[in-house]
Amino acid sequence: MNIKIADLDRREGEPLAFRLTLDPDELKARHQEIRGLTPVETKGEAAKLGDLYYINGDMQADVKFVCARCLRPFEQHVAIPFSETFAPAESLLADEEDSEILPLESDEIELAPLLQENFLLDIPAFPLCEDDCKGLCPTCGVNRNEQPCSCKNERIDPRLAGLADFFKDSK
Ligand SMILES: [Zn+2]
Ligand SMILES: [Zn+2]
Repeated sequence: MNIKIADLDRREGEPLAFRLTLDPDELKARHQEIRGLTPVETKGEAAKLGDLYYINGDMQADVKFVCARCLRPFEQHVAIPFSETFAPAESLLADEEDSEILPLESDEIELAPLLQENFLLDIPAFPLCEDDCKGLCPTCGVNRNEQPCSCKNERIDPRLAGLADFFKDSK
């Protein structure tokens, strides 16, 4: 779905509401941490203000992850806000090239590719089932969220690990 610039020009600042569903299969294929995904429901508004064009709104979906620490599969509802500003490419000054303002390359704003990028950028590279997930014990492999273990290795400085082995062997 695209937003026609002429439509925004005609509305003179009055926002134009849009709804769009992003294809989950394509998004899943582009991010290795996404193990499953519902269609991404997107709601937003587009408007022209002054010489600039704006879009904003949010994207919602249920995402299946595997916790990077304890390897437990979990599902999370994500609500990702987005907001972008555009200006006609020819009106962007050279020194604005690095700014947050995106150049308008045609007479339409192509929503899907833009929103896909926004969505993927917000997906964590290290998803965690809980912020304080205790993870698996590196020695016995137990899930420390479910059951404590008595391994003493957790706080050993890796530089001292060799020393700990030395003392263990000499017992
Ligand atoms: Zn976890
Ligand atoms: Zn353990």
